[in-house]
Amino acid sequence: MTSISPVRFQIAPKHPGTHLFEIVCGIDAPDPAGQVFSLPAWIPGSYMIREFAKNIVQLWATSAGRPVAVHKLDKSTWQCAPCAGSLSLRYEVYARDLSVRSAHLDTTHGFFNGTSVFVKLHGQERVPHEVEILPPAGAAYGDWRLATSLPRAGAPPFGFGSYRAADYDELIDHPVEMGTFTLADFEACGIPHAVAISGRHRADTERLCRDLRLICEQQIRFFGEPPPMAHYVFLVTAVGSGYGGLEHRASCALLCSRDDLPQRHQQDLTEKYRGFLTLCSHEYFHLWNVKRIKPAAFVPYDLDQENYTGLLWAFEGITSYYQFVMLLRCGLITAADFLELLAQTVTRVWRGTGRFKQSLADSSFDAWTKFYKQDENAANAIVNYYTKGAVVALALDLLIRRETRNTRSLDDVMRALWKHYGETGGGVAEDGVERMVTESCGVDLHGFFDDVVRGLADPPLAELLPQFGVGIELRPAESSDDKGGKRAKQAADKLARRAVLGLRLADKGAEARVAQVLDGGAAQRCGLAAGDIIMAVDSLRATRSNLDTLLAGYAPGERVTVHAFRRDELMSFNVELQAALPDTCVLSLLDDMDDTVRARRVAWLGGT
Ligand code: ZN
Repeated sequence: MTSISPVRFQIAPKHPGTHLFEIVCGIDAPDPAGQVFSLPAWIPGSYMIREFAKNIVQLWATSAGRPVAVHKLDKSTWQCAPCAGSLSLRYEVYARDLSVRSAHLDTTHGFFNGTSVFVKLHGQERVPHEVEILPPAGAAYGDWRLATSLPRAGAPPFGFGSYRAADYDELIDHPVEMGTFTLADFEACGIPHAVAISGRHRADTERLCRDLRLICEQQIRFFGEPPPMAHYVFLVTAVGSGYGGLEHRASCALLCSRDDLPQRHQQDLTEKYRGFLTLCSHEYFHLWNVKRIKPAAFVPYDLDQENYTGLLWAFEGITSYYQFVMLLRCGLITAADFLELLAQTVTRVWRGTGRFKQSLADSSFDAWTKFYKQDENAANAIVNYYTKGAVVALALDLLIRRETRNTRSLDDVMRALWKHYGETGGGVAEDGVERMVTESCGVDLHGFFDDVVRGLADPPLAELLPQFGVGIELRPAESSDDKGGKRAKQAADKLARRAVLGLRLADKGAEARVAQVLDGGAAQRCGLAAGDIIMAVDSLRATRSNLDTLLAGYAPGERVTVHAFRRDELMSFNVELQAALPDTCVLSLLDDMDDTVRARRVAWLGGT
């Protein structure tokens, strides 16, 4: 019997002020032909080529104390000269991307994803990988600790020291946070869960843990105990203004605004905190849906290049539907809240005409170059596979419930996918989701998939929702801040006469800077363009905050003169104002319904 010698990493935030992690990597038996190694070009869960290797600043290789020549094979790959004994690599990674996708280091904290810092030693991917994580040197960092779901191999809980992964794939799927974060913990179905919050905040961590426990237990019981991980960590970074989340096999990295967290002495569920719980619910659902139930195209991942699949809508869209369903089922939100959140999702879909040009399957496939690289024309050219995917999941759930007389639902499809693919590790074929609908529910919805997934149709919500005792109304937006989901404060006839320019402004800065010009709208017809800074409407000064008010005095069809700067040149546009489109969705619980409809609604939303 021969013992497999592991790949050994050591990582240290050398001088946090320089934003450099120093990594040392050693292997006992390098490839005699010259060891090849590379850094991933992307991180699973965020479908864009990010070229992490560009952040390697310096790199050295040695064997038996002597330098080994290294040459580059391509932008992310290196090869060492052949050497006889063990090989040691040492390199520095510049880490200053404060996002959930990469790495960040400064004097306040450090965070890294393995994809940004650990090279893959070709041929050694499947051997165990040990990593020793060191604190920065100096008394100033004496109180730093560490949070990660990486299995400990000698390190104390939440401490620096040795960790171990079964293979390279696991090594890069446990992000690490270090610093002076707040730590809280709870158990869900007997599984230890921790929450580490970095950044200044005054969060009520007791309430947060209580609420997260409800969400986690709901989801664990949904897919079945025991869950597929022995412990779980929420790595939260609280900043002034930020939003992001990335799922991993036993943790998630979250970026939020500090006021998204529940404040002490605050009892009610604010919209911001509801949004944060939604994000947690979303990432946790990914433990099953995408981390373990995966498209075949991700089994295994090829981290050197784009991995194409038309199924991202099923992983992100279905998850974006269940993120709300789980909050409803565990009692954190009411049915009315649930419908408000769904209506806001529908609104986001209905406001983009790109959905008439790009299908969900195509949006998934082209995520790498389109959804993840959105420009000012995105609303006109592409469909969001999260939001339209969630609306398709909603319609799919209702169709299955209707066709099976409430005996089956999308729940059965998800649990069947889990049994069939998640527990076995096989990948879902491109037609695997719709085949599973037929297999697990006995209904053939290929036509629906043709229309709304591969085709450009909207899911038939106006037909389906009333059959479940839910009314759907589409009205014009009341203002540019109107996210939908709520009844209008203004009368319907007044709202129908609301005049708009047919554009969206950038959401930052005091200037009225045009971010998007909507297809077929008034702004497009008169020649206004993205990037233009609107200075005046009929000679009155316009700003980002007063443009709605300036236009309130006009009716659709009236003409106004808009002055705007383009490339610092003042230009004048004669605009015929348009009516605001009925693109804002409101869903409501209907009072009058027959027994069939009532039974459907109770089965779907609970209540009586
Ligand atoms: Zn997601």
